[in-house]
Amino acid sequence: MGSRQVSTTWQGKRVTVAGLGVSGMPVAKVLAGLGAVVTAVNEGADERSRAQAAELEAQGVTVRLGDGATLPESTELIVTTPGWRPDKPLFAAAAKAGVPVWGDVELAWRLRDLDGRTPAPWLAVTGTNGKTTTTRMLASILEAAGLRTAAVGNIGVSLLDVVLGETQYDVLAVELSSYQLHWAPSLRAHSAAVLNLAPDHLDWHGSMEAYAADKGRIYEGNTVACVYNAEDKATEHLVREADVEEGCRAIGFTLATPGPSQLGVVDGILVDRAFVQNRQKNAQELAEVADVNPPAPHNIANALAAAALARAFGVEPKAVRDGLRAFRPDAHRIEHVADVAEVAYVDDSKATNTHAAEASLAAYDPIVWIAGGLAKGASFDELVQRSAKRLRGVVLIGAERHLIAEALARHAPEVPVVDLDRTDTGAMSAAVREAAGLARPGDTVLLAPACASMDMYANYNKRGEAFAEAVRGLTAGRA
Ligand code: ADP
Repeated sequence: MGSRQVSTTWQGKRVTVAGLGVSGMPVAKVLAGLGAVVTAVNEGADERSRAQAAELEAQGVTVRLGDGATLPESTELIVTTPGWRPDKPLFAAAAKAGVPVWGDVELAWRLRDLDGRTPAPWLAVTGTNGKTTTTRMLASILEAAGLRTAAVGNIGVSLLDVVLGETQYDVLAVELSSYQLHWAPSLRAHSAAVLNLAPDHLDWHGSMEAYAADKGRIYEGNTVACVYNAEDKATEHLVREADVEEGCRAIGFTLATPGPSQLGVVDGILVDRAFVQNRQKNAQELAEVADVNPPAPHNIANALAAAALARAFGVEPKAVRDGLRAFRPDAHRIEHVADVAEVAYVDDSKATNTHAAEASLAAYDPIVWIAGGLAKGASFDELVQRSAKRLRGVVLIGAERHLIAEALARHAPEVPVVDLDRTDTGAMSAAVREAAGLARPGDTVLLAPACASMDMYANYNKRGEAFAEAVRGLTAGRA
């Protein structure tokens, strides 16, 4: 695959780093450290970029601020920030000049065996929703199996740091975004999973086909297993399209009874009919549904995908169970905040698109739903249609709440809707009070906005925190 050759030829190589910032800065420093002749280009020239430029220049990097479009002369390779859109003029110039473009993940992949190290195999996870949860579940299972591992990648832990760091790993649980996959042409995972595919980030990729194709790259060259969602045909299609190593198997996961070469659920038990002797007849119990935290349907799917990757790596069933039991979900992902007056309050602020919100709405009944924010061009018709019968009531907040209000009027006219005409940060306590008014004992008040948060909050964390605080306000009010 040529990765070894490349990693020894950095001395004097002319590399352009596209974009400073979180990924660009470490990339430029690492390349300069390897002896490459590095030019960093950045569109902005604000104060922060100037400070970053000064830091890089001190390490011998040439920096061009305010021009991200011109290809520096004699560039042999571009390493780009994954967020840069593929239709930028810099990449058109690179294509014309025959210059390859890599992202930070590709660079990490190429550098993983630097200094003759034995690199840890990668178990890779992508999908529209559930990536972080599944990757963390996987790491928890691998740890329970006594393996030296880490959850890395799009999760906030830089792959570059991990492959170049001191710690030796047996295996890595790697979360990859569609952007990172787009720019990672030679990445070859041991095994990989695509959890689901729904329209998202289409402005970046240009079309659903292009988005799917980038996700599908995760399967290229897999050696042991391509894990797909048997209930999402698009993921299975990607496996069929992929060019994998001889002997690599397609492994499905399903919430139904699994067929041969699948993992699934039978009578509340997660079972494996893929990595067992005589899979036509046998199945191996892995864990109970109650071992999955929280045991919502989409999260059981995440657990099955994580289990499939771990089993592909040879992990024993008991470690799957122990790892799932030890797993604690990250904040703001279907997080149970409190019960007040026999009503459960659940924070799924991370449900920033309709596909994610639909999954959490499917997990409760009846629901008082708090939704709204920035719609990113989404349509809410299907989401409302599929969830309508579980809705006790809806409270709408945020800039583009009218889009949800219109879908509710079309498909669920009988459901009471409180349309809060507010985008100030105090709106969340009003929303929670309204929701409390609509809820009856046994109901769930669910914040699953189906929208981005930036109209009202810095990010989804802040939105979730505002919700939790408002719920605490309810409790205080009652005490
Ligand atoms: P990602 O890293 O892909 O954004 P997370 O694990 O952080 O995914 O979960 C984000 C949100 O997506 C969750 O809060 C939940 O609402 C939803 N979600 C998680 N897993 C799934 C799944 N398998 N299918 C659909 N939605 C999901």
